[in-house]
Amino acid sequence: MSADSGNQQIDFVACDSCKAKPGSPILCKGCLDNRASIGVLSQARDKFKKERDELGHEMLELIAVTEKRIAEVQSENESIQRSRDCWEETARQHCKNEQFYRDIVVKIGMLFGDAAKTSDDGTIQEDVLALNVYPLVEELVAKSLTIHYYFRNELKWK
Ligand SMILES: [Zn+2]
Repeated sequence: MSADSGNQQIDFVACDSCKAKPGSPILCKGCLDNRASIGVLSQARDKFKKERDELGHEMLELIAVTEKRIAEVQSENESIQRSRDCWEETARQHCKNEQFYRDIVVKIGMLFGDAAKTSDDGTIQEDVLALNVYPLVEELVAKSLTIHYYFRNELKWK
């Protein structure tokens, strides 16, 4: 992570008067205190470095998890958008077809005049009521069949 992540040894350096003593001298109180302090501080520094590295590692993991989730959400979002576009196109096509066939029904209804525009309560509407068209056609077919059979039988009888 950072440039100084290696553990550097902090060397204890004795004071001039202790340095001047020959062999392995008994250190003065100041040097003993300094040596002890350096030990404690080195340990603390190493502990903090370790914690910093662990935290850094956790942060990297957290960032990786977050980036992965962002990518997933983006992918889900794109999938939803594609699905939505598809449904929009389906709805558009459905609407077009519906209008096309409805126009045919209305055209057939117009052949019946006001009968195709009359509501249940007897009032005549401005436009053809699609619901009226089928019964009118059914009735017309029944009538024409009756006429057809009537004339055919009339001809036979004669
Ligand atoms: Zn000393």
